[in-house]
Amino acid sequence: MNSNLFSRLIQQTPDPSRTAIETASGAQITYSDLIARSGQMANALVAQGVAPGDRVAVQIEKSVEAIILYLATVRAGAVFLPLNTGYTPAEIEYFLGDARPAVFVCDPARQASLEVAARASNAKILTLDADGQGSLMTAAEAAPEGFETVERAGADLAALLYTSGTTGRSKGAMLSHENLYSNAVALQDAWRYSASDVLIHALPIFHTHGLFVATNLTFLAGASMIFLPKFDADRILDVMPRATVLMGVPTFYVRLLESPRLDPQVTSHMRLFISGSAPLLAETHREWQARTGHAILERYGMTETNMSTSNPYEGERIAGTVGQPLPGVEVIVTDPETGAPLPDGEIGMIEVRGPNVFCGYWQMPEKTAAELRENGYFITGDLGMVDDKGYVHIVGRGKDLIISGGYNIYPKEVETEIDAITGVNESAVIGLPHSDFGEAVAAVVVPTGKVALTEADILAPLAERLARFKQPKRVIFVEELPRNTMGKVQKNLLRDQYGALFQK
Ligand code: ATP
Ligand code: MG
Repeated sequence: MNSNLFSRLIQQTPDPSRTAIETASGAQITYSDLIARSGQMANALVAQGVAPGDRVAVQIEKSVEAIILYLATVRAGAVFLPLNTGYTPAEIEYFLGDARPAVFVCDPARQASLEVAARASNAKILTLDADGQGSLMTAAEAAPEGFETVERAGADLAALLYTSGTTGRSKGAMLSHENLYSNAVALQDAWRYSASDVLIHALPIFHTHGLFVATNLTFLAGASMIFLPKFDADRILDVMPRATVLMGVPTFYVRLLESPRLDPQVTSHMRLFISGSAPLLAETHREWQARTGHAILERYGMTETNMSTSNPYEGERIAGTVGQPLPGVEVIVTDPETGAPLPDGEIGMIEVRGPNVFCGYWQMPEKTAAELRENGYFITGDLGMVDDKGYVHIVGRGKDLIISGGYNIYPKEVETEIDAITGVNESAVIGLPHSDFGEAVAAVVVPTGKVALTEADILAPLAERLARFKQPKRVIFVEELPRNTMGKVQKNLLRDQYGALFQK
């Protein structure tokens, strides 16, 4: 059997007349449309010289056209490489130089500014925009619909997806047809996904969450999704009465809770609210349940492993945990120094194994060898533990762990206490070099602006709630925290900026 992801997700869809995507303007794209239009686009890519194994790099706005290009690339046996629409020409030049794609598809409006980047990597530049304009579209429209999906083995690459760049420069994660297919199957099982589901899709599609989790799962189930260009609380609430599932990051839920329109009536048709990509505060979980009657289902994953764990669909969804390993996935916690497995309840390095785990970092054999063990476990870089019910708790990234005077300090614990102080909007706790302690704790705090806060206002309540070694030695007030385009706080930038704070 052909293990091409396209064949397994879409080609055998039981009812091709069903809607796969509804656009924000109300257009209905059926599965037959996806098959026909991806066939045309695949023919156009092949005519441009794209061969199996070639990378097809893409920087275009979220649209049906972008999804068709994704499917066409996979059908042609090539490797889909989506790039964040926020990347500048200089950043694009880096990614194209690293990935060496055969073609680079961008918005016609950006072509002039991206020519140099494309030329430097020898990629042929093609254009396509969200309205279906551009040179690639013109070629696709003239091409036949019939296209024989290229035979692929499960281990062949389907995508090269760069990580979010929260902890440093983004790395290219090589994902195979089997990695992506097996994850969609596991999620369908775990989340009881069926053809009657209607997903509210408001995530970006250059990231694992919005591209693979959301679209692959929808296609596998023969379900449909309502494509919103970006997060917009009112638009989401407008479509909610005819949808069944929302996939979001924690800020979606925080923002929706700010809307007076959120009530049990508007959520009554929904069966599932999913959160991931960053930690969901237990308070948000509680408030959501109180307002809507639904318990948010939190899951955990990353570019390299796809989705790894999920709170249960039917069992207890425990706030502050990311649930249990998905079917076929194994999670262990090991000693970060020795790599030896740790017993339940102890905090250590989270490692993940299963058909979902990627094939390695693109052109980084040493990093791959260091992080992807021979026994198949991937060392995630996240610290956490497994409790006695088998639920995984994430305590933070290994790179953010603070070791001060020989003690381990998990920033999330300190941030949770700071965030509970009146007048605090959010905080980031970091370790900075210190001549006596190795590292010392500093808190970067964003006030709500409603109350004038002093350092003492933060430190006094913490002195009652946290051991002395966990208490920040300095508090820095800022207007906002640096974030990447996925909304994740970039602590490495804070560490660089305030690195000399405790230096004598
Ligand atoms: P980079 O690897 O380039 O520094 P990144 O790790 O942010 O960036 P992604 O692969 O997009 O790139 O994000 C995966 C990370 O997001 C995980 O390793 C984990 O730290 C975090 N994450 C994902 N889901 C959750 C969750 N439910 N709770 C806490 N953290 C989560
Ligand atoms: Mg990462």
